[in-house]
Amino acid sequence: MIKLVCPECQRQNEPERIYCHDCGARLDRSALAKVAPKGEDPKQTQRRLRQMLDPGRVKMRLLFFKISKLSLGAAALAVLIEMILPPRDVPERSKNIELQQINLDLESATTSHSAAPLQYSEAQVNNYFVNVAKNKHAALSKVLEFEKAFVNFDEEVCRITVERSLFGFSVFHSISSKVALRDGTLTASTVGGSIGRMPIHPMIMKSGDILFTDLWAALDREKKSVSKMGAIEFHPKTVILTPKSTGAAPSEPRPEATPTPGA
Ligand SMILES: [Zn+2]
Repeated sequence: MIKLVCPECQRQNEPERIYCHDCGARLDRSALAKVAPKGEDPKQTQRRLRQMLDPGRVKMRLLFFKISKLSLGAAALAVLIEMILPPRDVPERSKNIELQQINLDLESATTSHSAAPLQYSEAQVNNYFVNVAKNKHAALSKVLEFEKAFVNFDEEVCRITVERSLFGFSVFHSISSKVALRDGTLTASTVGGSIGRMPIHPMIMKSGDILFTDLWAALDREKKSVSKMGAIEFHPKTVILTPKSTGAAPSEPRPEATPTPGA
């Protein structure tokens, strides 16, 4: 065992010490640093090298790489499963809902002078989508076979999800947008999206818009009618479409504020 000799009192100190146990002088620890690398004798080094190159060890290393590859594969599989899983909020098909002729409602709202806003629930819109899918089946993609589309409305945000079948699997992809209608132009800015349960960054989802091309084509008439309206507003589970006020039909007068007595 190496002892650290104190430069002041010559006491032999234990190698752990920084200051001399007797006089408190700082010990020169550089001696330790010089000794340490010699700790391994050439024979030990040889043994270590042999172990590194030993076939058993090589096998272990290969196994390590195999396991790494396997866990990478598992991670990819986990992503894939996330993408295949249906979103948690797929609406149940409500058959007891009466079909709203949304297209006709929109058309009459844009042509007539009655300025009553149109209000639809998610379920009503989804029910309408079922009908669109039935009637416009030819326009919808056969490659990634269109199964259904549904909406989720939240404050200012509209999310559209499309279910497609791919090799017998159902794949859902959705896009969330902030929709605005200004001066007859309908604009949508993407705020999010997902494939299955896997969230996709809005920037990537923007280019994912091609996944919706067939749906937009099927809804072209509705889209045109909506852009002729005055405003579109999304609220939780509800969408409100306000026709352009023609000036002919003034909206209901606001309820008067109760006058403060004595004022
Ligand atoms: Zn000392």
